[in-house]
Formats: sequence, structure tokens, C-alpha cells
Amino acid sequence: MIKQVQNGNQPIVGRLAPSPTGALHLGNARSFLLAWLSVRSRNGRLIVRMEDLDHPKVKPWAATAALDDLRWLGLDWDAGPDTDASKYIQSNRRAIYGKYLEQLLDKGLVYPCVCSRNEIENVQSAPHREDQRLIYNGTCRGRFSNWDSATAMLPDGRLPVWRFKLEKQGRSCFVDAIRGECEADYQADIGDFALARDPLGAGYTLAHVVDDYLMGVTEVLRGDDLLEATHSHIVLQQALGFPTPQYVHVPLVVAEDGRRLAKRHGDTRIAMLREKGFTPPQVIGILAWWCGWAEFGEELMPEDLLARFDLAIFIREQAVLTPQVKEYFKL
Ligand code: GLU
Repeated sequence: MIKQVQNGNQPIVGRLAPSPTGALHLGNARSFLLAWLSVRSRNGRLIVRMEDLDHPKVKPWAATAALDDLRWLGLDWDAGPDTDASKYIQSNRRAIYGKYLEQLLDKGLVYPCVCSRNEIENVQSAPHREDQRLIYNGTCRGRFSNWDSATAMLPDGRLPVWRFKLEKQGRSCFVDAIRGECEADYQADIGDFALARDPLGAGYTLAHVVDDYLMGVTEVLRGDDLLEATHSHIVLQQALGFPTPQYVHVPLVVAEDGRRLAKRHGDTRIAMLREKGFTPPQVIGILAWWCGWAEFGEELMPEDLLARFDLAIFIREQAVLTPQVKEYFKL
């Protein structure tokens, strides 16, 4: 079992880490509300970090819109892109990630890989459960010994993806505050995972692990689509000598068919609800009902939930966009 940060008397530091690839919807909003409550209910410090490294999918309007939606919902933070854009927007921090990639390269823990376009395309995004999780078979391990360190280009002009050389045997195990003990086999379930495609190491996996460390994050509360990938995040923390934060993976909001929320399930964007005239207490009330902390239709502000926030009384199944919720929001 790996040792995770024990807060003791240390203040909790949590983060909201939106990816500006689209509008915030009821599902993201619920995870952000929970992250906010977890930190604020213990007088912790909360940061917002914009994870905008997922280039092809990043929308120019989405970062500002995410902050507006979070504020409208009544969530606040102590530091974020609005207080220091150079620090809390990942695309402004590429050089920092580059230094850590270099460290890993120097230790012989990372290698370039040119296998399958699909894998290369996926590395800059946070992997999500609906994606097929491929365990890499190591074809490119030891295959390339030189590349242009400025462009990351191989001598034949190909752009590789950086992969972590995972040599550990046995099982990885950590304790998640909701899911309990989570285990995976290093070789069968994790394998040589992709870190980044960017020559400066600026891909989701490396960047968020580095940032959580540099920003002193002690608790990572996020959607459970990232639960399996957490094992690789911990491997990386260990390779870089970083502590492992407390993980809290919360179930996603899904449609009645059990799938992640998508357009076909109705327009659940916060901005749309706001435009239709719904108020923050109505939205927060439904998010709280999904957690088991409110009656259906109760109107609440985030502060009203501080006393009700309790992971022991938290509905651990996926929250469902039921006909009752759809009717309430006229979806
Ligand atoms: N930015 C990631 C996403 O929106 C969240 C990653 C995290 O919380 O670690 O999927």
C-alpha cells in the first residue's frame, strides 16, 4: 500500500481543474461542488487550475465560461487564472513540465514511442472510462536513442509520444476515500503509459501530477472516470519523489441509459439552465439531492451544504438524470 498524504494539522489544499473543452454541465458541476465542499468544510485552501493542454479540443471561450459558471453557482476559490494567469493556466507552464520530463529522461524512465496514431492522439487528454484502455506492449522500448530535444522529432521526422518505462512488478494499491482500496497489476493493468506528446512534456498526465505537487495539493477530488488512471499518476509521483495526495473519486452523473451525459440526453449545460431562468439554489439543490443531502426540489446555496457534507452519507452510485430531473429543468 502506498503512503498517502496525512493531513494531520496541515491545511487541506484542493483544486478544481476544468478542461476548457466544452461548457460546464450538471455532471462537471456536481464534481466541482463536491471538491469545493470537501475543502471549504475543513477550512482548506482551494485553487482553480485551467487544464488547457488538450489542444485540438480546447475551445477559446470555454475557460472564461467555466469560471463564470462556477462563480454563478456560488463557488469561490483562493487562487486561480483570475488571480495569476501565469501560474494557474497550464499552457503558460510548458517550460516547467519540460524540466520534469528531462529529469525522467535522464533517469532513463521515459522513452519515445511511435506506435499507432490513436494512442498518440489520446495522450494529451485525460483518459476516460469509455475509452478503450490499451496496455502498451513495449515495442518502442529501447528502439530510439536520439531525437531533436527542441522539437522532440525523431531523425526520420516522426513525432513520438513520451512513454513511461514501467518496470515494477506486482500490484499497485491506494485507498480512495469513496472507493476504498483500489488495486491494479503494474504489468497487466497499467503498463508503459503515455505521458505527453509535446516536446516539453505538456500532456495531461505529466502536467497535472507536476502541478498538484508544485501547488501543494493534498486532496484530489474528481470524477471516477479517472480512477483507473490514478495508478499511473501514482507511479509518476513516486518516480519524481512527490507525495501522493488523498484521492476521492466521485461517481459521474449519467443518463438513464447509464451513459455519460451527452447532447442527446438534453441540454444540461449550466449556462443554458441560467438562460432558461433557473437560479443557482435550484441547480445546487438538485446536485445536493443527487448526493443524498437534500430533498428533491430543495433550494440551497453551496454554504448551506457545508454542514451536510459527509462522504459517509453520500450516495455512492452514479447520479442519474432521471425523468424527474429532466422535468424539473424542462430538458
Ligand atoms: N482536467 C481534467 C478533466 O476535466 C480533470 C483532471 C483531474 O481532476 O485530475 O477531465
